Amino acid sequence: MNPDQTKNTFVLKGVGVSPGVAIGRVYRFDPLDSEISFYKLKSTSLIPKEILRFKKALKESVYQLLEIQKNLKKTKVTEPLYVIDVHILILKDKKFVSRTIKYIQRLKINAEWAVRLTLDRYEQIFEKVEDTYIRGRISDVQYVGQRILSNLSGEKKETIWGTDEKVIVIAQDISPANTVQMKMEKVIGFATDAGGRTSHTAIVARDMELPAVVGLDNVTRFVRTGDEIIVDGISGLVVVNPYPEMLQRYEEKKLLYSAARDEYLKDAKAPAVTSDNYTLQIGCNIEFVEEIPSAIAHGAEHIGLYRTEFIYINRQELPTEEDHFNNYCQVVGTKDLLWSTIRTFDLGGDKFPSSQKPVKELNPQMGLRAIRFCLKEVEIFKTQLRAIWRAGALGKTRILFPMISSVEEIVEAKKLLEETRKELLAQGENIASEMEIGAMIEVPAAVVIADKLAREVDFFSIGTNDLIQYSLAIDRSNERLTYLYEPLHPAVLKLVKSVVDTAHEAGIRVSMCGEMAGDPICTLILLGMELDELSMNHLAIPRIKKIIRESTLKESKLLLEKALSFNMASEVRMFVHDYMKKRFPVEFQNEDD
Ligand code: PEP
Ligand code: MG
Repeated sequence: MNPDQTKNTFVLKGVGVSPGVAIGRVYRFDPLDSEISFYKLKSTSLIPKEILRFKKALKESVYQLLEIQKNLKKTKVTEPLYVIDVHILILKDKKFVSRTIKYIQRLKINAEWAVRLTLDRYEQIFEKVEDTYIRGRISDVQYVGQRILSNLSGEKKETIWGTDEKVIVIAQDISPANTVQMKMEKVIGFATDAGGRTSHTAIVARDMELPAVVGLDNVTRFVRTGDEIIVDGISGLVVVNPYPEMLQRYEEKKLLYSAARDEYLKDAKAPAVTSDNYTLQIGCNIEFVEEIPSAIAHGAEHIGLYRTEFIYINRQELPTEEDHFNNYCQVVGTKDLLWSTIRTFDLGGDKFPSSQKPVKELNPQMGLRAIRFCLKEVEIFKTQLRAIWRAGALGKTRILFPMISSVEEIVEAKKLLEETRKELLAQGENIASEMEIGAMIEVPAAVVIADKLAREVDFFSIGTNDLIQYSLAIDRSNERLTYLYEPLHPAVLKLVKSVVDTAHEAGIRVSMCGEMAGDPICTLILLGMELDELSMNHLAIPRIKKIIRESTLKESKLLLEKALSFNMASEVRMFVHDYMKKRFPVEFQNEDD
């Protein structure tokens, strides 16, 4: 029996993207409301003060936007300037202002609440507009609203984050910036409407070792703050208001999972060498320097991908060279790590710096992102390159350029790298004596011209998250397409194999840092291709290493050969899945599918 008869028990199926089981109370996260308290005014005499607070917040918001605009003018990007103009116009819009003031006066509510009501009203109005472009402009109003709200809240934020309770966060989606907004020590799990295996929500959840299920479509519609919930990141199930028997079953599953994880950790540091002596070097993907101790404890031998874009997120100003340098110094030269691969920032797509909301692009994933953005914003890029050179003096560092789609891009990036090296030397700075240069292979064009790219770099790193997205034409963050997102698709296997073969013919090393590298179902397939390195989230490392140690290169090659003989992705999946489950019954015992 459900202890609370008024609450319905139901189960939702999504995509389990971070393993483990979380059981607890729901906190429905809304970026607008998350740090804000709404209340009625105790007396009418407080109304003028509340209106004054609102006006002050408006003024502050305009001032901040003008400051951002001033900084942007120093760069070459012009489009955001117009967007900011629009935001300032909204802040000064008479209707916006008078409506909010009326809400304060008539309803006797605090300014935050009144702003929220105005935003809701605008949302309703925009929803009715037929023109999709104009309808989409509601995001500008919301952005402005968010700014006013955060200026209103100031320091006195009263929220769930101030209480002792640990919560499971339910949200429409969780952007990297939102994660920083939360008190992560209070969060024990995530469940979201949107997202897929490789969305950044999923990546961050894994990094934080929090069970997470994404792509649930409409979990936010069905749950409320305070509901009891189970998030099973292994099977992708979410149980809302569970029965006591369910609770007990999941408590047991939770314990089993923790025990299995502890068991893996015992041998985590042993190398990934097959019994016929093939070694795969295993690295870790990180987003924050704080993850390094965990990476090492889970058996990482190097950092195979440091996603530096997070340095730009959730700050008002662009990071300085010193900000970058101080950050990289905490990665490079870490004892127990053979090298650190610093990927230059991959902003755009689904990651934006908070200070610089970029122009809305119809296809951001194919827009001005990663290396394209860097080569346009040369000064921002060079600031980062200089810091990498300087930090490189502390230990072996590799630099990795994302989203390369032409030889020109790599040549141009290398030119800027060399320019910064010379500038630093002329200034007498202590810098790395050498730096290995890598290209991410994540655009199909790069696979096709891999032989030409190989002449320009020291190593490749295959980014399957994007490579699958671009080759199969599947938006990686669209939860409705998850069923099509298939690393074992014959096309993906052929692309990856071709990159590895081309790299080896050219005599350079090849790594994989996309999520496929950490998917145990794919381990023997990748081993059979003879990749040199795999880099993954730290949680995956012990299991992948164990599978490799219990295999031979010979059997992997046979498995790969057979897998490549199928025509359909579903056939490959079924074959490889069955093989792996039979071959490694213990490693896959917790999988429900
Ligand atoms: C990838 O695309 O596979 C990758 C590792 O980069 P990101 O997930 O940061 O786009
Ligand atoms: Mg990528």
